[in-house]
Formats: sequence, structure tokens, C-alpha cells
Amino acid sequence: MPKVKYMRLCWGVYRPLEVGTFIPTPKHIAGKRAVVNINSMDNYCFQYSVLAGMNPISVNSHQHKNRLYVYKPFMHMLNMEGIQSPVPLSSIGKFESQNPDISVNVLYHDGNQIIYIRTSTFTDQRKHHVTLLMITDGNEKFHYLSVQSMSRLISTGAKYKNKYYVCHYCLYPFRKEGRLEEHKLMCKQHQSQLIR
Ligand SMILES: [Zn+2]
Repeated sequence: MPKVKYMRLCWGVYRPLEVGTFIPTPKHIAGKRAVVNINSMDNYCFQYSVLAGMNPISVNSHQHKNRLYVYKPFMHMLNMEGIQSPVPLSSIGKFESQNPDISVNVLYHDGNQIIYIRTSTFTDQRKHHVTLLMITDGNEKFHYLSVQSMSRLISTGAKYKNKYYVCHYCLYPFRKEGRLEEHKLMCKQHQSQLIR
């Protein structure tokens, strides 16, 4: 007869990662005019940000890219079947497999730097490639923004006005598109990384 000799119970407050509730764009990023932060209080920031990256026809010339009503009519373009909202990073693979025209990369902003936390294996292979920026409120809450210009997002200071071709895999900025293409052949063999 087995006996329980000792048992210890530990507990703490469960605080799941909360995605989706609105967080304002950090000031130094907002100033670059490189991202769109869709103003919503619901859990669909992933969907809105993906649509903002896909630029459906009427959004393209739209001046209110940060407004919810711009995206609502296009929600049906995304197959979200079986995917919970707010959408966790771990569900983006499923999203890509049931939305075969879309690939999704995710950058993460941690206060000082911007890094890739998800590089799609379908990067550059699908009709729509979108890049999202995940920001945090400093606690458990996360929020997705749509990256509209990688060039403006990664350039700083005096270099701000230059146009860069940014590697989707390592974020390295190139002045010439041809150099980026050469580099990408090598770079995409490795997963997300940061080159300084
Ligand atoms: Zn690279």
C-alpha cells in the first residue's frame, strides 16, 4: 500500500499574458510615423493590424488608418476559425496555415530595442506579407501594431530621412535593394537574429 509521506502545495495568482487591450504607441516610435496603432478596446488588435498591413483597396488612401471602422468591413478576409482573440503568438502558425495568402512577422519592442520574435517561414513567398509590432505596458499586457515602414521604424536620428531596405530576418538596413537581396539569400537560412 503506497503512502503519501509529504506533500507541499504552492500557489500564486495566475496572471496570463493579456493581449489586445489598447496601449498607446511609445512616443519615440510614434514620432517615426512608421506604425499604425488601431484605436480599439476590443480583443482584435491582431486582426486590425494584419488588415492594415495588407492594405485593402479602400484603406490604401485612407487618412484614418488608426480608426477601427476602416477595418471592420474587411474582417471577413481573415479566416480566424479555431483561433482565440486576443491572438497569442503561438496561434500565428495556425493563422498562416488557414490564410494561405498571408505571412506574418512579429517584432517586439522592449523599451530600448526592437527585435524579431517571430519570423515566418513564408516570408516573401505570399501575396501579403505583414509585420506587426508587439508592445507592452511594462506588465503582462501586450498589444499589436501594424508596421507600415520598416525603413522608418529602424532608422534613427540623422539617418531618419534615408530610405532603407530592411532585412526581414535580421533587421539589418541596406541602402541598396540589390545588396539586401544578396544578403537575404544567406540570412534566411538562419532564424530570427539581431545584427548590430
Ligand atoms: Zn538579414
